[in-house]
Amino acid sequence: MHKKADSEMFKALWAYDKAAESTDHIQIKKKYELFIDGKFVKPIKGAYFDTVNPSNNEKIASVAEGSSEDVDKAVKAARKAFKGWSKLSGRERGKYIYRIARLIQERATEFAVIESLDGGKPIRESKGIDIPLAANHFFYYAGWADKLSYAFPNRTPKPIGVAGQIIPWNFPLLMAAWKIAPALATGNTVVLKPAETTPLTALKLAEIIEESGLPKGVVNIVTGAGETGAEIVNHPDIDKIAFTGSTNVGKYIQKAIAGTSKKLTLELGGKGANIIFEDAAIDQAVEGIINAIFFNQGHVCCAGSRLFVQESVADVVIQKLKSRMETLMVGSPLDKNTDIGAINSKKQLQTIEDYIKIGLNEGCEIYQPTCDLPKKGYWCPPTLFLNVSQSHRIVQEEIFGPVLAIQTFRTIDEVIEKANNTPYGLSAGVWTQTGSKLFYLTQKLNAGIVWGNTFNKFDPTSPFGGYKESGIGREGGLHGLKSYVKFD
Ligand code: ADP
Repeated sequence: MHKKADSEMFKALWAYDKAAESTDHIQIKKKYELFIDGKFVKPIKGAYFDTVNPSNNEKIASVAEGSSEDVDKAVKAARKAFKGWSKLSGRERGKYIYRIARLIQERATEFAVIESLDGGKPIRESKGIDIPLAANHFFYYAGWADKLSYAFPNRTPKPIGVAGQIIPWNFPLLMAAWKIAPALATGNTVVLKPAETTPLTALKLAEIIEESGLPKGVVNIVTGAGETGAEIVNHPDIDKIAFTGSTNVGKYIQKAIAGTSKKLTLELGGKGANIIFEDAAIDQAVEGIINAIFFNQGHVCCAGSRLFVQESVADVVIQKLKSRMETLMVGSPLDKNTDIGAINSKKQLQTIEDYIKIGLNEGCEIYQPTCDLPKKGYWCPPTLFLNVSQSHRIVQEEIFGPVLAIQTFRTIDEVIEKANNTPYGLSAGVWTQTGSKLFYLTQKLNAGIVWGNTFNKFDPTSPFGGYKESGIGREGGLHGLKSYVKFD
């Protein structure tokens, strides 16, 4: 009853008109080729795949599928370019990277719209978070290019060589920036593969790279699915692999390069704990819970997908959380009012729906707000599960969707033990007004990132990465440079 009353009250008070972002200034080609050696070239085997808009399942463009021959061509171009690029002064390298950053800024709206069309994320997020952060990463690492001797005092950092970079579909342009910017700043050249469901902004980036005058072959972009990624991983003339994606593929890559001299960084899955103490500012914490799990439809490796609420405030937090969930707008990614967009692909929707069934079969109590989902495309309402325990699969395994598992706790020791009881170790959030408690937890939680009274905040200066099955190495900040240099 309570559920209906809340939603009806909200809908009566707040009826938003549609506020669709315009798409008429966006340039998307019908067909995209591979970007190798500074130009767009046809795939040797002539194969293409479709990229679709997940909010209506309509085809957006055909995209070239890179074969082993194409990957080899890209690696050769990157190797050739390495000779000149690695010898260029840091100041000169920096100029190009600054230019790329500025061009992204200039075309930010176009990037944002394409990101939302291709990936399903709300335009509010692609405009306000993904694209500005991507530009910031290029600005930040451009600044390091001529200051590497300060980054590594009394040592002489040298570039590693050709980096093979494989990125996921949840933050397509941002992940490309995380990978390309530090590699270029340190004098490496790259072969990057975007994810098969979201290749378009990386290809737009290729256009910008062409426009920037970056020496040819320094950045090569080869599109394709897992097989193309595996060709990059296994190519004998690649010196370093940087991968962001699922833990399963990360393990496969680790095995594939074992025994070779390739360097490796992995940024994998997570099952972040979001911990609310009784002395937290409750309303802010509720907003924090929403942001932690529903940002980008929960397609976030560092999502706060396990909520721990101190028992004394559990009832009030859960009641406020349910009310807030009633107000979330699920719908067109291009509507500026939308909070939760489309699920990225049919495959991912299937995974999420399977986990919801698993939760129900495990006997957990589900709550989903009343919302009308669009008829076409891939959608999942914001979902929470109560009555869950540590051993449930929905608590242990990464769902990568808008699904939250809620548990309660009484003491600090108990919540530390529960929060750390996971194969992952990427992120955590702590909500309390007591500074000492916050700092104590940051020491005790096995997570690469611990947010205090906030969640999902990203900054180019801040290292990002995980422990245990969440990965190896750090990206961002000074730490992010280290993965792309070697010392004699
Ligand atoms: P998800 O399961 O969420 O789609 P993946 O880890 O499969 O995540 O995908 C992340 C990236 O890894 C994508 O660019 C994908 O094409 C790529 N990929 C998938 N399988 C492999 C593989 N065996 N080797 C290298 N890259 C792969």
